[in-house]
Amino acid sequence: MFNLVIFGPPGCGKGTQSAIIVEEYSLTHISTGDLLREEIKLGTDLGKLAKGLMDKGEFVSDEIVISMIENKLDSSKDSKGFIFDGFPRTTAQAEVLDKLLAARNQDINGVIAIDVDEEELVQRILTRGQEFGRADDQDAATIQNRIRVYHEKTSPVKEYYSNQGKVKDVVGTGCEIEEVTVKVMEVIESFK
Ligand code: AMP
Repeated sequence: MFNLVIFGPPGCGKGTQSAIIVEEYSLTHISTGDLLREEIKLGTDLGKLAKGLMDKGEFVSDEIVISMIENKLDSSKDSKGFIFDGFPRTTAQAEVLDKLLAARNQDINGVIAIDVDEEELVQRILTRGQEFGRADDQDAATIQNRIRVYHEKTSPVKEYYSNQGKVKDVVGTGCEIEEVTVKVMEVIESFK
């Protein structure tokens, strides 16, 4: 198994790069944001609860996202490995993920940390909002809150994995998607 975490602030290109990587390396993409948006589309109770939080740029509880991850791990037993996108977003989530993987005789092979400066992030998110209509991409206050929450709750996750010697950085500022992909692939090769 080959398990990766793609890490970085909202709008840095995690989803875009993940879509390319899963094709290239035959991995399974696990995006907690996509799973939550699916619940919203289906109109489930979980979706309704999540929407209220997501529209404000706040996190859904660790318990909810962890149970979604567990289900996905167990329903993808034949996978060659996973790329975790938008998860873990708190150190508590990272600790649980290590335990869930250890219980399955697996671990995280490497963490790709994409960095993009804040001005460009906001611009990219607003453009994505116009293209795809995500509610949380269209409101300036929500976008600012997501970036604030990222700094407060998610950036410590990078330190958590750095302490395990697993993080490699990729600079995304001012880069085309293809340029970032080349750098991401180099990093992935170095994890092998
Ligand atoms: P994303 O598509 O990764 O940008 O996620 C969209 C939104 O879903 C986030 O702003 C959070 O409200 C929620 N979300 C996604 N993943 C998580 C997570 N791992 N923990 C808590 N909330 C999450």
